Amino acid sequence: MLKVYNTRTRSKEEFVPIEGNTVRMYVCGPTVYDYPHIGNARSFAVFDSIRRYLEYRGYRVTYITNFTDIDDKMINRANEEGIEVSELAAKFISEYRKIEKQLNLKPATVNPRATEHIDDIVEMVDLIIKNGYGYDVHGDVYFSVPAFDAYGSLSRIPMDELTSGARVEVDENKKDPRDFALWKAEKPGEPSWDSPWGKGRPGWHAECSVMGRHYLGLPFDIHGGGQDLIFPHHENEIAQSAAAYGIEVPVKYWFHNGFLTMDSEKMSKSEGNFSTAREVLDNYDHQAVRLYLVTGQYRQPLDYNAKAVTQAIQSLERIKNAADSIRGRISILERIGSRESEDDKKLAEAAKKVREGFEREMDDDFNTPGALAEIFAFVREINTLVGDVGGAAVLREALAVLTELVGILGVNLTDASATDEGAALTSDTLKGVIEFLLELREEARKSKDFGKADQIRDRLKQIGVEVSDTKDGPTWKLS
Ligand code: AMP
Ligand code: ZN
Repeated sequence: MLKVYNTRTRSKEEFVPIEGNTVRMYVCGPTVYDYPHIGNARSFAVFDSIRRYLEYRGYRVTYITNFTDIDDKMINRANEEGIEVSELAAKFISEYRKIEKQLNLKPATVNPRATEHIDDIVEMVDLIIKNGYGYDVHGDVYFSVPAFDAYGSLSRIPMDELTSGARVEVDENKKDPRDFALWKAEKPGEPSWDSPWGKGRPGWHAECSVMGRHYLGLPFDIHGGGQDLIFPHHENEIAQSAAAYGIEVPVKYWFHNGFLTMDSEKMSKSEGNFSTAREVLDNYDHQAVRLYLVTGQYRQPLDYNAKAVTQAIQSLERIKNAADSIRGRISILERIGSRESEDDKKLAEAAKKVREGFEREMDDDFNTPGALAEIFAFVREINTLVGDVGGAAVLREALAVLTELVGILGVNLTDASATDEGAALTSDTLKGVIEFLLELREEARKSKDFGKADQIRDRLKQIGVEVSDTKDGPTWKLS
């Protein structure tokens, strides 16, 4: 049973999706005004692994992560650089795409952008006002926090702390210091859109309420982001969705990742203690960086230092070496023929055990360090047994299990360029083999041997080749 920590209830709960086996998930994405730092990349990586584990568990996941492409930071940076806000956004969205590939983040179902949803935002703000939770002061629209009784349910910050001004923006137009901006009136030189309150642009919190609802419907299952977003961003999202649409619990499970720290301080641009994801990925093996980002349980802090990255580099090597030694043994057996031994049973047993252990750990609120410990126990077993295993099928199964499990953590053992041996195998050879297998599958289907056809498809899936049947015949892509 999968148990997940829910920030809303401050407890670990059994994970039960709202509807059948579909999971609707929204993760706050980057503000595309600058190069993301490696702390932001932690957030991207942990939610990618959570998504992959949910898919492994058989859920159909719709995964939405946005780009914040209009806010104060975007406007200030575009002005500094003398370019349009849209140009700045395009530059850093393409930077994100690069990081997405390098960190092996599975592309989102949709990456919506705030500026693509201005009409929906205007509609929501209008509803909030009509329902008595918002007010307009000369073109600035605010959410009235005192009007919404449940305010604070997520962050559980005492109301007196909120009125003191330490946590909230001071603005003389506000009727109450806790109120927050839904819509900001146009200032000279800023991008703006038409609205019933005059030209302006949305407040930051509005976009995620609107885009979550647009793509997933309300309520949806999981909303993720860093712990810094609990207040005010997510608190305000809840208030907006409840006030506009009457849905008091718009999100069933709130997941918040812990911070990446440097010298125990949160990595952040404003504090100046950061390394960009780009710098880190230029200096280290991409897969090792990805592995490093999931070496800690996702809610705990994770320190960024050379030792931690070096350890991840070594861990990756151990995993790849184990995979290589299995491949090596398979090719020997292909030459000399299978000769089963006692060790075959032991390896098959270890492959079963690692799957069970991995699932047990990941079922405990995505405990990736525990899951990695299981993988390393398996790697040790492989190293001990591989030379004496005589059955190629057992070896293939062990390799498939290792590949599948580390794949959830973002390590791609099937990528031909990721292994030395693989590097020698050209992509043409690989394509030829896949096409040949698909021909065999077609023949099996024609002779109504659907078991065999499914076996070929499932086996290809295990090694990262996704087969789809179209009216023009089967197609495949690397997943
Ligand atoms: P931003 O571009 O600042 O909106 O951040 C993108 C994502 O990274 C958000 O989910 C943030 O909460 C998260 N984040 C920001 N700083 C850190 C950090 N030091 N460690 C982990 N996650 C972070
Ligand atoms: Zn958000």
